Amino acid sequence: MCKVGTSRPLTRSSAKALTHATAKWPWLAARASGRHVLRLSYSGAVDVSSETARTDASELLGVGVPAASVIDFDTVQWSRPAPFAPPADDVTYIGEGVAGSGLANVVRQATEAAERLLALAEEDDGA
Ligand SMILES: Cc1cc2nc3c(=O)[nH]c(=O)nc-3n(C[C@H](O)[C@H](O)[C@H](O)COP(=O)(O)OP(=O)(O)OC[C@H]3O[C@@H](n4cnc5c(N)ncnc54)[C@H](O)[C@@H]3O)c2cc1C
Repeated sequence: MCKVGTSRPLTRSSAKALTHATAKWPWLAARASGRHVLRLSYSGAVDVSSETARTDASELLGVGVPAASVIDFDTVQWSRPAPFAPPADDVTYIGEGVAGSGLANVVRQATEAAERLLALAEEDDGA
């Protein structure tokens, strides 16, 4: 996490983001029986241990997470599409690769692409 316009980190955490998963998803809270599930996100270049995740969680939450309170730890790798500029042809591309990361970007770009295709179809019908 960096301040806009500088490269000075705002925190000492090597995580990109933290999700308090049991606060976000009631179904998970129901299954966790009063325990907390935290998800930390890292760029692919970071080698994450349980201890790294614990200290990063403490830093990002502003609350000490004692080592003895950590019940389990796991890592999951997600492959993300590399950004690309669509080639200038008749194929319409949608999704994160062309829209950018995040559901808001993906939905906006897909909606715009669908509207363009519908407008073209209407033009064809009228011709
Ligand atoms: C862990 C994680 C957490 C995230 N959290 C958030 C969040 O909180 N908010 C947010 O806005 N964004 C979040 N994102 C980003 C968001 O999920 C993506 O930007 C978005 O899902 C991209 O949508 P998409 O349709 O381009 O691709 P995807 O959602 O990845 O969909 C692509 C689909 O195509 C399928 N597929 C791939 N190849 C083939 C093939 N050859 N044949 C058939 N099917 C294929 C895949 O199985 C997949 O179902 C998160 C991403 C990750 C990894």
